[in-house]
Amino acid sequence: MVVRMRRNRSQTAKRRSNHAIHGQRLAKCECGAARMSHRACPQCGKYNGKIIIDIVAVASRAARRAKRKQTELRASGHSDETKEKETAKTS
Ligand SMILES: [Zn+2]
Repeated sequence: MVVRMRRNRSQTAKRRSNHAIHGQRLAKCECGAARMSHRACPQCGKYNGKIIIDIVAVASRAARRAKRKQTELRASGHSDETKEKETAKTS
């Protein structure tokens, strides 16, 4: 290595000053939940006092998808419920 390329103690310290890991910066929503700043609240769907995400619609959509997945699993015979019934019959 050429002397010109050599890093002195100060330069090393400056580089390492950014190595510390710090946690997420969380802000408190008006509903009381912790949320990331500059992001809509996942609990109430509000950002800057306005409703951005329709929480009820998102929850109903998730429920519908879970139900559909469950029926598909039951149709293909891979669900846990059928296995439980089979074990109940054998025992
Ligand atoms: Zn909120």
